[in-house]
Formats: sequence, structure tokens, C-alpha cells
Amino acid sequence: MKTAILWFRNDLRTDDNPALLAAIQSGYAIMPLFIDDIEEQGAWPAGAASRWWLHFALKRLDRQLRERGSRLVLRKGSVSKVFDHLCEQYDIAAVYWNRRYEAAVIQRDATLKLSLKKRGIDTRSFNGSLLKEPWEVATGDGNPYRVFTPFSKAVAKQSIAEPQDSPMNIPMAAKCPESIELDDLNLLPGIRWDKGFHAFWNPEDWSAEGELELFLRKSVDSYKKLRDYPSERGTSRLSPALHWGDISPRRIFNELSKLPASEGRDCYQRELIWREFAYHVLYHYPKTPEFPLQSKFNEFPWEPDSEVLTAWQNGRTGYPIVDAGMRELWQTGWMHNRIRMVVASFLVKHLLQPWQEGARWFWNTLVDADLASNTLGWQWAGGCGADAAPYFRIFNPMIQGQKFDPQGHYTKRFVPELKNLPEKYLHMPWEAPSGVLKKAGVLLGETYPLPIVDHKTARARALKALEKLK
Ligand code: FAD
Repeated sequence: MKTAILWFRNDLRTDDNPALLAAIQSGYAIMPLFIDDIEEQGAWPAGAASRWWLHFALKRLDRQLRERGSRLVLRKGSVSKVFDHLCEQYDIAAVYWNRRYEAAVIQRDATLKLSLKKRGIDTRSFNGSLLKEPWEVATGDGNPYRVFTPFSKAVAKQSIAEPQDSPMNIPMAAKCPESIELDDLNLLPGIRWDKGFHAFWNPEDWSAEGELELFLRKSVDSYKKLRDYPSERGTSRLSPALHWGDISPRRIFNELSKLPASEGRDCYQRELIWREFAYHVLYHYPKTPEFPLQSKFNEFPWEPDSEVLTAWQNGRTGYPIVDAGMRELWQTGWMHNRIRMVVASFLVKHLLQPWQEGARWFWNTLVDADLASNTLGWQWAGGCGADAAPYFRIFNPMIQGQKFDPQGHYTKRFVPELKNLPEKYLHMPWEAPSGVLKKAGVLLGETYPLPIVDHKTARARALKALEKLK
């Protein structure tokens, strides 16, 4: 019996997986394959934290496949060489996959398609990651959107396909190569910096459906109200699952649509559409991971400084809300969205470091690192992207801290050296009288850093830099 390869990529699930269903419908026996591509994504191979997530996602996928009479074949190497080898060794009739949208991956897939075609092998690709393909949403004159609100209105007018249930059985190809061991992909770190990740995510028992169910039961109603408060469990934390495809956005959208209309539900749907917008922008403007969408920002007078960058990366800027965010990222592989905005703005505007440096750091440290959403987020912070925050609007980190972490639960959790400081001074310890600092056990410049820049001076410097651009 001929075989179809089902090539898993960022769609690591059996539920609502159109490539899997098409492979089953083809009538061929199926060889489920995942390749750890050593040439992946040009300059953007998956970062260390993202690979950590991938390890557990592959484990879960293999479990799902085994429950359906199949199993995952793991390979490491160059995609073209892996396919050459499989096509030579096995009777492959077709290859099915769900699409990805990063420029280097599109290019790689196109080359592969051509070489498979030359061998007489049928290839089919599907939409497994988005509510709408980037080319299915366009302005009246057929152009891509650069502003979110009209984009989201255009998406709202379109129908979203129903998710399809996981098949009960997957016909496994009788002749299938042995898989290499998951551990041999070396996705987990050699030096175990991931203890905090385990405590935060509990990956062995984690399931995307379980998390979604919990979020819909407990948090969606209050999502609009609580989503900006990092000490609350107010958001779904499904971003790594959406990136790697443990769950499909159509499944989430569909579950949401079963709920009665509410502010929380609508607000959550809007966030899923921000993700769509990120993919729309990445697809239509493929150079944005490296270059600003607004080209005038190519001339922005950044002041690259490796010491300043390191202080930000290590959560030692002397601004507690910024440091809490950077340490949350390091300890858990994730950071709350409000705090992502604060730390990104701080790096770009207060410290005048290029947004690309921040994007690279996030890329390596986030379990949900995603080229589309990360690029959109950083260009938003840098004021140079699609629908970006205007550069002259500069977040005040003290006010952000007081407003979104008023009791300091979040800040004290990640910056424990300030845990005895009264709320009044928590977000600006340098303003605290010496007696208060002493009582709280804080020695500025020793137990906790002095501010790396003065807020007012930094603000004025950022605005002056913007003037130069004009
Ligand atoms: P929820 O609030 O529960 O939202 C549900 C889903 O909607 C998210 O899982 C995500 O897929 C999507 N979403 C929410 N907000 C956004 C947004 N602003 N842009 C795009 N999609 C969104 N998100 C990533 O998935 N990967 C990244 O690499 C990434 N980098 C970012 C960098 C910066 C500088 C900023 C400001 C934001 C970035 N985001 C990124 C977007 C956002 O911060 C995360 O998606 C969100 O914090 C994930 O938490 P959640 O799943 O609890 O979100």
C-alpha cells in the first residue's frame, strides 16, 4: 500500500488538523513525521525556550497518535535530505502539511514542493494555524491592511471554518522508519536553567484543551477587566500552544462562539484577531523581522550599548516593574502582555537600544516566541510598525507599575529584594527616605540597582532622537 507522509510542523495536534484529515481521506497509509530542521527559518531558528516547549509538545503529539493506532517518526537534519532519504527508501505517493508564513520557510517549502513534484509525488498544503489566510483579507483595493481596526472588521465579516474533530483511527504505514529518540533532538537544555519553567507550566500534565476549558470557565468573563494586571491569572496563557499548534485558533474561536456574548468574550476574540493581524503583516511585509515597516525608522539614531542591554536582559535596570518582567521571562519563559509592552518601550525609548535587540532576546527566552507576533509587538513598541504606538508616546514605568501592579504582588514576586518596601515607594525606590529603605533592608546600588537612567532625562533624549528623524 502506498504511503502519504504527514509532515507535522507548527500544528502538533490531531484535533482540527486539516492536513491530517486530508491524508486520511486520501486512502493512503500514513507516515507521521516531524523534522528538527537544522537549517530552519534562515536567521530565526527556534530559540532555547521555544525548543523547550517543543519537546513536550512532541511528546503529547506522539501520545495522541499512539491512542489512534499510529506514532510519530522523528528526524533531525536538513529537510531536503530527510525527504530525499524517505522518498528513496519508501513508496511515498503524497506529502501533506499545514502552511507556515515566515519568508524563509515559504521559500524552503516551495523548493521542496518542486523537488517532490519531480519525483511524481503529490504535495498538498492546508491552513492549520490561522482563522483566515493572510491573502483572504484585503482592503477594498486589494491591498494588505496596515491598521488593525479595519483589518479586524474585515475579518469579522468573513465566516470562520468550523474546527474538525480528531480522527478516531489513523492508518499507520506498515513500512515505517524507526523514530530517533525525542531526547536525541536535544530540545531540553544541557545546563538545567528550566526548573522555573517546570514549576510554572507543569508540562508533563499540561493540555491545551484543559487550559482552554479552565480559562473559559474561570477567566473569560473577567478577561477585559483583569487582562492588564500581571498578578492576576487573567489571561489564557495559550500563546505557546497557539504557536506550536497544540491547539487551533479555530477550536478556540468556536468554543468562544458557544458562550453568551460578553465583554470578556469579545475582547478575547479581538486578541486572537491581533494574532491574525501579526501573520497578515508578516506575510505581506516579510522583511519586518529585521527592518521597520516604516522605512524612515531605518535612520533612527539608536545608541547601542552592550552594558545597558545586559542590564535590561538581566532585570537590573533599577525600575522594579521592568526588572520584574525581565525576571519573569527568564524564570518562566513567558511574560504578561502588559509587561511586555512596558519592558519593550523601556528598552527602545528610555535606553535607545534598537528594537531588534529586544526582539532577539525575546526570541530566545519566550516559550511562545513567534516571528509574526514578536515582530509586530516590537515594531509596535518601536513606533515603526503597523498600527504602532506613536514614538512620542513614552510609557512612564512608575505609573505603569502603580496602575497595573498597585499592591506590588507581581513586582515583589520577581524582585524579592524589594518585598519589604512600602507600596508607596515600590515602583520608585530611589524616592524612599533612607530610614524607609533601611527598614526594608534595601541598599540602593548594592542590594538593588539605582535607576540605569533618569526617567525625565531619558524621555527628553528619546524625543530629541525622534526630532532628528524628522
Ligand atoms: P491572551 O490575552 O490570553 O490572548 C489570547 C491569544 O491572543 C494569545 O495567546 C495570542 O496568541 C493572541 N494575542 C494576544 N495579544 C496579542 C498581541 N498583542 N499580538 C498578537 N497576538 C496576541 N505573542 C506571541 O505569541 N509570541 C511572541 O513572540 C510575542 N512577542 C511579543 C513581543 C512584544 C514586545 C509584545 C508587546 C507582545 C508580544 N506578543 C507575543 C503578544 C502578547 O504579549 C502575547 O501573545 C500574550 O501575552 C500571550 O499571553 P496569553 O496567551 O495569556 O494571551
